[in-house]
Amino acid sequence: MTVEDVELPHLRRCVELATEALDAGDDPFGSVLVAGDGSVLAEDRNRTAAGDRTRHPEFELARWSAAHMTPGERAAATVYTSGEHCPMCAAAHAWVGLGRIVYVASSAQLLTWLAELDVPAPPVRPLPVAEIAPDVTVDGPVPELTEAVRELHRRFHSARG
Ligand SMILES: [Zn+2]
Repeated sequence: MTVEDVELPHLRRCVELATEALDAGDDPFGSVLVAGDGSVLAEDRNRTAAGDRTRHPEFELARWSAAHMTPGERAAATVYTSGEHCPMCAAAHAWVGLGRIVYVASSAQLLTWLAELDVPAPPVRPLPVAEIAPDVTVDGPVPELTEAVRELHRRFHSARG
């Protein structure tokens, strides 16, 4: 599959949520859960600044979907996200049986940007979703929005000096 123009508003909302996270002192990540019929069901942003580094938006949406959706609804849903799922979130996504993932920036891109900013490597290897959840359809990166996401990460890590 490819990313359709009608999907860009969902991805722009992810960038907005990532910006909200940044403004709150959090790592800039945001995600939106969209049903098979195109309606937005839930959204979240990164909430790790308080100390729980598992509070990723994709993980929260996976757990929300398990509590509120049938298996069929989950399979038909799409998770849009500003950055490709980390291995923890990719595993949660696959375990609850969610459908397609569309990300703005890949984990490989993020890793390159963080290296350029001299940010230490994360404690979890940033494997691509396909390595963790081979049956999940994944689309991205989305060049129209990639630079905006890169700028958020640059701002976050520059602010921390
Ligand atoms: Zn994650």
